Amino acid sequence: MINSDQQVSDKHRIKCSTAQLPIRLLLGPGPSNLHPRVNQQLITPMIGYTDVNYFKVMDETMELMRYLFQTDNHFTIPISGAGTAAMECCVSNLIEPEDVVVCLVAGYFSDRIHQQAVRYGSKIQRIEKKWGQYFSLEEIKEQLEKHRPKLLTMVFGETSTGIKQPMQGVGELCHQYDCLLMVDTVAALGGVPFFVDQWKVDACYTGGQKCLSGPPGISPLTFSPRACKKIAERKTPIANWYLDATLLAGYWCPEYNFATSQITSPQPLRRYHHTTPANLIYALRESILLVSEEGIENTWNRHRSAAHQLYQGLARIGLEPLISELNDKNDLGGRLYSLTTVKVPEGIDAKLFMKSLLDKHNIEIAGGIGELAGKIWRVGLMGFNANNSNVTLLLSTLEETLKDFKK
Ligand SMILES: *Cc1c(COP(=O)(O)O)cnc(C)c1O
Repeated sequence: MINSDQQVSDKHRIKCSTAQLPIRLLLGPGPSNLHPRVNQQLITPMIGYTDVNYFKVMDETMELMRYLFQTDNHFTIPISGAGTAAMECCVSNLIEPEDVVVCLVAGYFSDRIHQQAVRYGSKIQRIEKKWGQYFSLEEIKEQLEKHRPKLLTMVFGETSTGIKQPMQGVGELCHQYDCLLMVDTVAALGGVPFFVDQWKVDACYTGGQKCLSGPPGISPLTFSPRACKKIAERKTPIANWYLDATLLAGYWCPEYNFATSQITSPQPLRRYHHTTPANLIYALRESILLVSEEGIENTWNRHRSAAHQLYQGLARIGLEPLISELNDKNDLGGRLYSLTTVKVPEGIDAKLFMKSLLDKHNIEIAGGIGELAGKIWRVGLMGFNANNSNVTLLLSTLEETLKDFKK
């Protein structure tokens, strides 16, 4: 001990077990398995955040994210944090304390948006439907007419229920009412067709660990020029420093003017905001590069084909999806391809069943949450995992386990 009256305590000085973690097939609502190429990026050497090579990685990541979102939005950046952080980035930047906001709530994650919104605004309208339903265009119009909000929030692919919210006409309607549209696509983007620009969405985000087969903790986000203008015209400061889009832009896209959407040239120097998680960004870039190499329409079709194989197989082994409505048109609502909710048959303990899949077969699926706890299972076919051989394996495992449980 060097010149000290203090004594070091060894109370918490543990040894870690060197046991390997099991290798699981992750067929729940996320995370999904990493693509091997993505995994490789996580062990790429560290690089400084002002290195010109890193700047190239940043630019490529932003451009690939525009492809993923199907947008020309200049402000398209990855948020250092989980999908929930990207959600809070939208909410904290787009809501001023006196703004009227309509939150459409019909599940766990749309409820989370509402929970965040009430921390940033005092005039938040919560419009609720039963879990497992979506909002019709007429219902949305009614709310816009009644409340005249500045922002409407919704979830496109609701992971807690397996519902896809129809997008047909929603963006146009919001434009008519001079309202910004914020859509959560965490469980869907990259797996289910979504068009930020064509559907006139103003704020949209996703997470790395769902349909992108990437790591959690890095979350693509995009703001339209309309959303950026709203931010530029705020009368009150953004009450969240870490997620302040104007400060983040100082590092990611200092050339972008929020008020006018103009790009200044040459690009001003990128200014430090926080140390971005370089390895997660390499991994994200690789995961979207994989989508781009496959072609995003092919990626969507692969998810769709895996989902259809699952639906047919479930019917064969006597399991029923929670969501009966099946719509194939991109902007219509119904069953979500990337996440299927399945009714737990009478007399089967949902948790014990999942434990058996995990312990005996290393396959993870999830149970229901909230109102649907114990009533459903949630099966994710996301990203790299959305393929026919995984579905075949899952179906035969489900069939075998069902037989065991019915004995
Ligand atoms: C998973 C998920 C989130 C939250 O993502 P995290 O990375 O867990 O914070 C938000 N919305 C939806 C629809 C999700 O499926």
